Amino acid sequence: MLTDKEAEEIERKRKSGVSSGPILLAWVDGLLADRKERVRQLQYLRQRLNQAFRYLDGLVRDVQTSRPRPAAVSKAKPLYCPSCGQPYARAHGISPDGIAYVHADGRECRTGAPTQDESSAPLR
Ligand SMILES: [Zn+2]
Repeated sequence: MLTDKEAEEIERKRKSGVSSGPILLAWVDGLLADRKERVRQLQYLRQRLNQAFRYLDGLVRDVQTSRPRPAAVSKAKPLYCPSCGQPYARAHGISPDGIAYVHADGRECRTGAPTQDESSAPLR
């Protein structure tokens, strides 16, 4: 590629009346090569921008569709009931401190809630 200094020199010579000769033809060749190089660089830049766009668009699409990532799915482990130690399907609160753990077979374990014996124990 032509340097800025070379380009300035060409411009100065043109203004001083140099309009033909081997030196001028060499400059013309240089300018044409310079143009080809710039076009090639622009094509490369557009190619890289296109790649970047597709990458970023894919990231945004993942967020937009809330598509679960495979890694997150494989990390999901069953939750275990603290009462019996078996996996449970769901849990819900039954009191400010108590939680009921519902198992897949319908069995239900409770923690934290006062038991029937404690609540009915006679006061002393
Ligand atoms: Zn249980």
